[in-house]
Amino acid sequence: MCGIVGYVGGRGATDVLLGGLKRLEYRGYDSAGLALVEGQKLHILKGTGKVRDLEQSVYAQWDAGFRDGARMGIAHTRWATHGSPTAENAHPHTDQTGHLAMVHNGIIENYVALRTQLKAKGHMFASQTDSEVLIHLIGELYKGNLFEAVSAALKHVEGTYGIAVVSANEPDQMVVARKGSPLVIGLGENETIVASDVSAIIAHTRQVIFLDDDDVAVLTAQGADIRNLHNIPVSREVAQVDWDVGAAEKGGFEHFMLKEIFEQPEALENTLRGRLDEAMGTAILSGLSLSPRELAGIRRLVIVACGTSLNAGMVGKYYFEELADLPTEVEQAAEYRYRNPIIQPDDMVIAISQSGETADTLAAVREAKQRGALVVGLCNVVGSTIARETGRGVYLHAGPEIGVASTKAFTCQLAVLLMMALKIGRCRRLSRQRGSEICEEIRQIPALVRSVLKRNDEIIAVAGEYAKVRDFFFLGRGCMYPVALEGALKLKEISYIHAEGYHAAELKHGPIALLDDQVPVMALMNDLAGREKMVSNVQECRARNAPVVGVITEGDDSAAQHVNGVIHVPRCSRLTAPIPTVVALQLFAYHVARIRGCPIDQPRNLAKSVTVE
Ligand code: GLU
Repeated sequence: MCGIVGYVGGRGATDVLLGGLKRLEYRGYDSAGLALVEGQKLHILKGTGKVRDLEQSVYAQWDAGFRDGARMGIAHTRWATHGSPTAENAHPHTDQTGHLAMVHNGIIENYVALRTQLKAKGHMFASQTDSEVLIHLIGELYKGNLFEAVSAALKHVEGTYGIAVVSANEPDQMVVARKGSPLVIGLGENETIVASDVSAIIAHTRQVIFLDDDDVAVLTAQGADIRNLHNIPVSREVAQVDWDVGAAEKGGFEHFMLKEIFEQPEALENTLRGRLDEAMGTAILSGLSLSPRELAGIRRLVIVACGTSLNAGMVGKYYFEELADLPTEVEQAAEYRYRNPIIQPDDMVIAISQSGETADTLAAVREAKQRGALVVGLCNVVGSTIARETGRGVYLHAGPEIGVASTKAFTCQLAVLLMMALKIGRCRRLSRQRGSEICEEIRQIPALVRSVLKRNDEIIAVAGEYAKVRDFFFLGRGCMYPVALEGALKLKEISYIHAEGYHAAELKHGPIALLDDQVPVMALMNDLAGREKMVSNVQECRARNAPVVGVITEGDDSAAQHVNGVIHVPRCSRLTAPIPTVVALQLFAYHVARIRGCPIDQPRNLAKSVTVE
């Protein structure tokens, strides 16, 4: 999910690789490493920490002649998904002979099965990563032709990858391949560079080829020979990129936040990958390390979180109550340890934090553990403090999130909470058939998000009409209520408009006094169960002259009659609806902030990871 750079050409590889890694640093990472091929030998340096630490080791440990002499190498910044961020788990990884090395971005879904097969053949593994299994498999199949070995191995792989592989026996060529994780080839003069994105390449050349899924390419100093997994040559257009470095980092998007909003279908696919079992009608969440019997014995859930994660937890409450009949409380984590939180023997505490470092959530985890609770973590950052201290949980696999305002982490949190509720529900009351139906609904989530993203222009138009307001209300019912809270939070975070999320029924108990023609309302009218009541609430707002934007289900034209502006979201199940809905609200907040000229990726006064109380 992070960064790959590879170089083969006429000059020293080391500086191109280190320079490329520095360009990819913005993607976020936890460790870095580099391999050079020289004199039929592989030389590898890797470790935790920053690229400049790696650079220091390279300069301290490798003499100048060797450093500048090696003409081919691969390098990596890792965002751990399998195994903590340690030096052993850092890439490059080698095969069992030590002659092949590989860097990998992505997730090898079936790595457990592959590792078992390879172990039976005598392979020994030095890391906990999924990636190391792939290079061992390539090594197992290697008969002197790296391209053939890589293509053969990839036929056994389920999951996503962008890889660059080198062999000490073939010092003039490297093999790269992609499925699901981006790879770009830069064609220079007597040199070829490969990287996860063009920002690592454009200092050297602007002639690039974007690889497609299932492409496997042999790179030499003279260029790229691109084939598919069946060794049939494929032709890929050579593009000329005119982006500057800033635009290249954002993949052509104006801001990281927008890039991350648009990344959500892939992020969600990664979150769901390998975790849905339609046949059994359940979810596979092995990191929970709890048997069906143990899950069946839980009597109450307590979710602790802050900010966006807290809003995710509130949606989770609907999921756990509806699918698992489990009483669920959602607690602001900062409050938790300053009360006398009651923990009973059969309670389970779920701590939600994107970074896994949120100070208040961590303190709540420690308090809950102290009181003997079973605590599970729901984090994005592998090996983070909350992930380590809980010892069990579910990783989001959303990839690094750079925009301060959380977007893809939120939707992936909802997907994980829904899968957890499904899994626990299946241990308690849900039938296999109902479980399978829910699996099918969950599988639709990435497509639902894609269909909202296609309505970007519609949302831009609505945002244009409301960009100058000073206040905004977001109203919802049912599980759209926490979505309204999250929509309001996004708007205030990045546009600085005062925005309040409210339960639609609660409006009458006070805040309706604030409504007039200067205070618009975003009404989430797409929770079909609460639709009629929402229509009444919208009328109440209109009667106070408040302009109303309705988020409505596609085809629900009668709802559109009650409002001044409309944002459409696709028709879908009640359980999954919060995800496409919040994506529409993220886009709305983004475009309002952009029109107002706000610094979207660094909103004033905010930090990405809140590590103080
Ligand atoms: N799944 C691999 C690992 O955990 C690759 C992570 C990445 O994309 O950086 O090592």
